[in-house]
Order: sequence, then structure tokens, then C-alpha cells
Amino acid sequence: MSALFNQTDRTTPRRSKDRIDYAKAPAYQILDEALFCDVAFVGPGGSPQVIPTFHARLGNTVYLHGSTGSSLGLAAKEGFDVCLTATVVDGLVYAKSWFHHSMNFRSVIVHGKATLVTDAHDNWLAMRALIERMSIGRSERSREPNQKEGAAAAIIALPLEEASVKARSGPPVEDPEDEDLPYRNGVAEVTTVVSGRL
Ligand SMILES: Cc1cc2nc3c(=O)[nH]c(=O)nc-3n(C[C@H](O)[C@H](O)[C@H](O)COP(=O)(O)OP(=O)(O)OC[C@H]3O[C@@H](n4cnc5c(N)ncnc54)[C@H](O)[C@@H]3O)c2cc1C
Repeated sequence: MSALFNQTDRTTPRRSKDRIDYAKAPAYQILDEALFCDVAFVGPGGSPQVIPTFHARLGNTVYLHGSTGSSLGLAAKEGFDVCLTATVVDGLVYAKSWFHHSMNFRSVIVHGKATLVTDAHDNWLAMRALIERMSIGRSERSREPNQKEGAAAAIIALPLEEASVKARSGPPVEDPEDEDLPYRNGVAEVTTVVSGRL
């Protein structure tokens, strides 16, 4: 399997092309680290919709979970085009000018067709992967879904084929003429802390 995603028209940014990466490893890392993702699609009413939701990655597939009656669950019945993004923010970047304030981040954007998982075993593996993201071993320390709960849950699969990563790191960019301005600049680190996993 290639270590890179193929670059396509829709994964080609218009700006800051140097910050884009098509390597799979950082995309996997961000998806595994981000606590949730946002899924954009055209909703049942025909207008664009973005839904924040929990996700888990197994190999080259991202799995989502939703109620069968939710717009995600309903759209998945047919297979639907989505754009999914997950982001980890690493820092708030303070510059001397308003213009150069920024954020340090790592983000992944995935385009593709999402489908409902119908195979019972794949469904179970995806549900277990979602629970394991809460805490390693949690699937052993809690009850599996019963038939009613399983029937109410739509598990949706999105293959990781058309994706890109963008990242910014480091200090603020400053214009030379701003260097002597009397304003403080620098980076405030951002970390997500989960305390007391069960
Ligand atoms: C936390 C955060 C804060 C940001 N703040 C700003 C801001 O204030 N102003 C600003 O202009 N930009 C900001 N960005 C960057 C923004 O996400 C876009 O990258 C930027 O708007 C440039 O888009 P574009 O027109 O070059 O790409 P587009 O032409 O809009 O995108 C084309 C394709 O390029 C790829 N791509 C573009 N952006 C990303 C990305 N972030 N991650 C992965 N793939 C990407 C995707 O495949 C996308 O489909 C921020 C990003 C993050 C994660």
C-alpha cells in the first residue's frame, strides 16, 4: 500500500501549498488524536450541513456512529458524498501585528463516499474501535450493545483515499518593520487533557 494519498483537484489548496502533505502517516496520527471530527454533506433537505461527531480509524477507513434516524444515518443508507475534517490545535500564535496572529495546528480533510456498514462483524469491530478510543480496554469493561441498541445505531464507513494534511508550527511570522514594536509576541501552547479515564 502506498504511503501517500493521490493528490486530486479537490485536495489541492489554492493557498499555502507548502503546508500541505499527502502522507498517510500524519493523517492517521491526527485522526487518532483528534477527539471528534466534523462531517459535511448535503442534507436531506438539499442544503449543506456540518455535523460534529465521534470517529474511529481502523486501517485506511474512518468509522462514524449515528442514530439510524439522524440525518447522517438516513443519508448513509444510499451512500453519500462527504467531506470530513479533524483538527488538533497545538498553539495560539501572538504576533506584533493583528495580521500575523495565527494558530499552530494539524488538520486533515478527507473527501469521499461514505456508506453504511452492513456486515455484522465489521459493524461490531467498528463499534468496538469507537469504544476503545474512549479508553484502551473499555470494550472489555462495559456491556456490548444488545439487539435493540445495535438496530438503532448506524455505523458509517469512509475510506481514506482522497485526503490531505495541513499543519502550522513555530513562532509568529513578523514583518521586519514590526520587530521593534513594544508588543509581546509568542506562542501559548494548547493541549487537551483527559483526566480520569475509566
Ligand atoms: C484551527 C485552524 C485555524 C485556521 N485559521 C485560519 C484563518 O484564520 N484564516 C485562513 O485563511 N486559514 C485558516 N486556516 C487554514 C484553512 O483551513 C485553509 O487551509 C485556508 O483557508 C486555505 O485554504 P485554501 O483556499 O488554500 O484551500 P481550499 O482551496 O479551500 O481547499 C482545497 C483543498 O486543500 C486541502 N486543504 C485546505 N486546507 C486544509 C486544511 N486546513 N487541512 C487539510 N487539508 C486542507 C483540502 O484537501 C481541501 O479540500 C486554519 C486552519 C485551522 C486548522
